[in-house]
Amino acid sequence: MDFDLTEEQKMILELVDEVSEKEIEPLADEVAEKGEFPRGNIERLASLDLFGITIPKKYAGLEMDYLTWALVAERISRACATTGLIFGANLLCTFPLLNFGSEEQKSTFLPPLAKGTSLGAFALTEPEAGSDAGNVQTSAKKDADGYILNGNKIFITNGEVADIYIIIANLDRKRGARGLAAFILKKGTTGFSFGQHFRKMGLEALPNVELILKDCPVPENNLIGGEKKGFKIAMETFAAGRIGVGIGALGIAEAAFKKARDYSKERVQFGRTISSFQAVQHILADMATKIEASRQFLYKAAWLLDKGMPFEKYASMGKLYASETAMWVTTKAVQILGGYGYMKDYPVERYMREAKLFEIIEGTSEIQRGIIANLILKET
Ligand SMILES: Cc1cc2nc3c(=O)[nH]c(=O)nc-3n(C[C@H](O)[C@H](O)[C@H](O)COP(=O)(O)OP(=O)(O)OC[C@H]3O[C@@H](n4cnc5c(N)ncnc54)[C@H](O)[C@@H]3O)c2cc1C
Repeated sequence: MDFDLTEEQKMILELVDEVSEKEIEPLADEVAEKGEFPRGNIERLASLDLFGITIPKKYAGLEMDYLTWALVAERISRACATTGLIFGANLLCTFPLLNFGSEEQKSTFLPPLAKGTSLGAFALTEPEAGSDAGNVQTSAKKDADGYILNGNKIFITNGEVADIYIIIANLDRKRGARGLAAFILKKGTTGFSFGQHFRKMGLEALPNVELILKDCPVPENNLIGGEKKGFKIAMETFAAGRIGVGIGALGIAEAAFKKARDYSKERVQFGRTISSFQAVQHILADMATKIEASRQFLYKAAWLLDKGMPFEKYASMGKLYASETAMWVTTKAVQILGGYGYMKDYPVERYMREAKLFEIIEGTSEIQRGIIANLILKET
């Protein structure tokens, strides 16, 4: 493995560090408090062409690798987890287009996604299909001009603010997961509307919305990768997406660790800084160790993906480990800040609420353990 950075990567990361620290992080409390979509942050990232990191130059991207994407997303998530998740949800839209889309689909939809003038979303989850991702009830029926979609999707990130949606629907319910197909749906299509806006325990500014599809026509050209390829497309997209979710969790853990470490060096009790107590030192040491281990899992997964090698096991391990680390680190950060940890005066209580999501999305911790067990039991 080689995580040495090129001059181009270093330049981008320096820029992202500056924007994240000076422009995005100072607004993170306000973004969460107001619960409004952070459009300014998204426009700023778009102005740096960051939505196009993994997209080839011929589709208006930067043609860089997933490791670079991960390093950038880590910095954004450290500054503002909401912005990091919006950035990550866009990847869930570009990944299936890049890897399974036709030339026409790529040249039509990737340039605006790469430039950030359009945002993307990926919609699989339904009331009856969460962990059981193959149980999608949204139907796709063939007609003379293409397909007609009917159904409801819930919790969809970037719902309503996105312009381009990947919709997983079932062409043949009798075939279960094998009947699934992936479609590109544009905002504004007849019969496509938005229902419930979900209220959450954290990340209030992240749009999570119900999608309603009522006799929604999709042209034949917007079917991705052929009929009944939907489950494969969804599983591969989620596998890559888990690197992004893990990186988001890592960013929150890093932010919480830094606040706890800095506070422990200033807070005086019993005439000494609390960082001089071994009990506090050991928590800080465990935090730093778990964060570094999460980082190694996730960088390795991104590196393997870039090399075209099997990365799924490390993506699941990284997502599982980083999300549980984020939950543990943020809980301990609240503890280190004592009473102030529980107050809104410091962001650590917000980090703790935000961290919980990462143990749930794109496969819960239980589902990740199942995936890892399945993969390691196949190994000899
Ligand atoms: C804020 C947010 C954003 C989201 N964004 C998107 C999005 O953009 N696109 C999208 O498609 N989806 C999205 N989701 C959906 C998310 O991926 C699902 O919520 C998640 O996969 C869990 O599914 P579920 O909520 O139906 O829980 P369930 O599947 O009902 O699980 C409930 C509990 O049962 C456990 N469980 C279920 N099956 C098993 C099993 N086989 N073995 C052991 N335990 C099991 C789970 O681990 C969990 O603890 C989002 C969710 C949230 C909360």
